[in-house]
Amino acid sequence: MRATIALAGNPNSGKTTLFNELTGARQHIGNYPGVTVEKKQGVYVNDGHKINIVDLPGTYSLTAYSLEEVVARDFLVNEKPAMVVNIVDASSLERNLYLTIQLMEAGIPVCIALNMMDVAEKRGIDINIKKLSSLLGVPIVPTIARKGKGKKELMDTVAGSFKETKPELFNISYGADLDKALDESEKKIRDANFLTDIYLPRWVALKYLENDEQIVKLGEKTDSSLSKEIKQIVEKVSVHLNETLDTSPEAIIADQRYGYINSILKQGVVTHHMGQNRLQTSDKIDKIVTHRFLGPIIMLAVLTGLYKFTFTYSEVPVELFEGFFIWLGEFATIHLPDGLLRSLVVSGIINGVGGVLGFVPIIVFMFLGLSILEDSGYFARVAYMLDRIFSFFGLHGSSVMPFIVSGGIAGGCAVPGIMACRTLKSPKERIATLLTVPFMNCGAKLPVFALLIAAFFIEHKAMVMVLITLISWIGALLAAKLLRVTIMKGAPTPFVMELPPFRFPTFKGIFIHTWERTWQYIKKAGTVILGISILLWAMMTFPSLPDSELKIFQQQKDTLTAAALPGKRGDIQDTKGSVIHSAEAIKLKKQRSLIDLQKTKEALRYSMAGRIGIALERVTKLAGFDWRTNIALLGGFAAKEVVVSTLGTAYSLGEVDPEETVLLSKALANDSGWSPLVAFSLIIFTIFYAPCFVAVVCIAREAGSWKWGFFSIVFNTTLAFGLSTAVFQIGSILGY
Ligand code: GDP
Ligand code: MG
Repeated sequence: MRATIALAGNPNSGKTTLFNELTGARQHIGNYPGVTVEKKQGVYVNDGHKINIVDLPGTYSLTAYSLEEVVARDFLVNEKPAMVVNIVDASSLERNLYLTIQLMEAGIPVCIALNMMDVAEKRGIDINIKKLSSLLGVPIVPTIARKGKGKKELMDTVAGSFKETKPELFNISYGADLDKALDESEKKIRDANFLTDIYLPRWVALKYLENDEQIVKLGEKTDSSLSKEIKQIVEKVSVHLNETLDTSPEAIIADQRYGYINSILKQGVVTHHMGQNRLQTSDKIDKIVTHRFLGPIIMLAVLTGLYKFTFTYSEVPVELFEGFFIWLGEFATIHLPDGLLRSLVVSGIINGVGGVLGFVPIIVFMFLGLSILEDSGYFARVAYMLDRIFSFFGLHGSSVMPFIVSGGIAGGCAVPGIMACRTLKSPKERIATLLTVPFMNCGAKLPVFALLIAAFFIEHKAMVMVLITLISWIGALLAAKLLRVTIMKGAPTPFVMELPPFRFPTFKGIFIHTWERTWQYIKKAGTVILGISILLWAMMTFPSLPDSELKIFQQQKDTLTAAALPGKRGDIQDTKGSVIHSAEAIKLKKQRSLIDLQKTKEALRYSMAGRIGIALERVTKLAGFDWRTNIALLGGFAAKEVVVSTLGTAYSLGEVDPEETVLLSKALANDSGWSPLVAFSLIIFTIFYAPCFVAVVCIAREAGSWKWGFFSIVFNTTLAFGLSTAVFQIGSILGY
């Protein structure tokens, strides 16, 4: 059987680079079963030998703080790779060895690839590899992954160590109190063979001390009384530590690990051959970009820049895509006979596929910008600076990016915003962010606001826009807080993301990152989105008007035509052969198209969507919406732009181009059912209600379960309805 080895290491340690170097083209990317964490697999070939290689997600530790950590750990424990190659960034040994120690504690055979040797050298860091290797008791091979240096030596060492027997048990001391508790629980665990078919006894004891959710849950299922006994031991030592040292087991464990690492590094493993006090370039940059005053200003500039970059540069390809699909729609309209098939192809399929692909350029540019920020190390600084504000709301500093991309500055898109949530490691924070980014004002909501502002608040245009932006941010942050204290309860993850040194990203790395993420979107979202698009089309088309009613409209048209004077009815040709429309003919055309509009409106009213809209009126009255608004909002689930055009149809104005809303805004302003209060209530509803279905599909994909997709529809709509009802009712009482 072919041996499998796994690559593990901190984010940015060069894992992917090494993986690509080792496997070349013999790799494929998927997801771990059930979760959206990338799983890269490939094959290394050397002298006819083949070794499977798996690139594990980057992690700083092996606790169950984040999805990545759980995935990495599960893989190592369940799949039992012959060896794990731990990629260690030589330029920040202390931070990287933190993971190494945990790998060793879990009893996994480790070989270290000491990467970034070039960076270490440039910084004047000398590492005595032999000494480090003997102190840790693991083989170490220096590498420069970016240049492919050391990969052969590494793989030879790995292949050579396969034959060696199991690694020696590796334990470090966690101080008198914890060691005693560990010994005690370890004995119980060993005696009862509790979870020992998978894990080392001491490791299980350690995880109980660290209060590791996954292991404790598993333990409870396996043997709840023993699990309780161990928990009591943990409880006792926790109380004791709290009383004597005012600290927790987790904190001591982290301290002791770092202490252990430092004691190793100090034994002549690391020497600096440049003046220690000389500020390194990265530190110098950090002095500026995380400066108390300059930092936030630079950050604002960078974030705005990324936002501009994403949406400005994608404009041309987006327009090209749009143009192509408009052309395709027209082409189909000409070549297909009028009827259901044409309607299905044009409105259902072409619009659906166009809708999916239309997002692609935006996603490409967003990920391109994000990859540059991430790979260079700047993104970690942003997260670091914002973490205090966001963690107050139960989110993470990295949540800022999704919010901005989704339209935090007004005019973005929730789809790339949702995909940007991948930078969030903790599942709870990630889901809370996923669910609240659709509250931002994406480019498609803006026409709705523009219409309502034009109709009712034209004098306070700017102020209302600022208000809308504020409301969506406050709403999003409070909703996140609400989620984090209820269904997604849990302490915020401690900010373990330490600041990696700045680095120039490589072209290849950025390109690969961007492409992989974009392709996942196309592949996964595509199929579902097409299906839903067709479903929505059907809802707005069926049941179609009964023949008897269609006949009435036709009769009306016929009567009109017949009534027009013969001879003046048609068009006449002038001497040069071009058509002149007589006044009569123009009037006739107008009247006939008015009847058509009436027919479209009636058909919409008669359709499934129309009936739902009418049925809902009884409830939505509370927020001030009549059936026409309801239908438009239902249509908005397909894409928010549709709200405006559907309102146009419901008011028999024909297809309203979102940019040409003058007529519609006049119609609304003059309609007795409307008032500034209704308009404001609708604005609130539009900010908060269900994301468009493309966004819902993405939420489901990124959260790893349809449950969250449905939840976002129900939660957001309920919240929206509650808020706009409150606005409408209170406003009515106040006499607006
Ligand atoms: P991962 O997050 O661990 O997968 O890290 P990547 O493979 O994406 O690498 C992060 C960055 O470090 C990229 O810009 C790489 O080009 C760069 N890098 C990787 N290995 C080396 C190395 O040995 N030397 C230098 N100077 N840069 C490297
Ligand atoms: Mg990587």
